Amino acid sequence: MSEGRPSSARRGYDADWRKRRDEQLERQPWCELDAERAVRATFPEYPTAEATANLLAYAFKWMEPSATSFIAGGGHVVRRAGTVDHRKPRRTFPPELQGSDAPGGSEHPDNLRSLCHSCHSRRADDKARRA
Ligand SMILES: [Zn+2]
Repeated sequence: MSEGRPSSARRGYDADWRKRRDEQLERQPWCELDAERAVRATFPEYPTAEATANLLAYAFKWMEPSATSFIAGGGHVVRRAGTVDHRKPRRTFPPELQGSDAPGGSEHPDNLRSLCHSCHSRRADDKARRA
């Protein structure tokens, strides 16, 4: 038996998760953190979630499916998302220990957000530092 990190299936990243992830990337194909950064640069006085949502909606409607990035306000690049992150970290217990009262973020779309690989790896580093 090898020790260390459990397999991805063991941690719950199974077919169900891949389906939820694909659905999230279809709903939101652009990196939400990149969009937030661009909005903060463009409207430093007024960087609202609504402005970010508007920018993302604009990209969803107007960007070519083949586009991998675009330049938004303040010259900030918004990249196409390739991964999905839990806003509130997901439950990390094995499935048999996941009661409804277990701590951790849910799999509801409200708790998911699309990130590019660059933002996702930075975020993974942050999590590791906090752990
Ligand atoms: Zn990003």
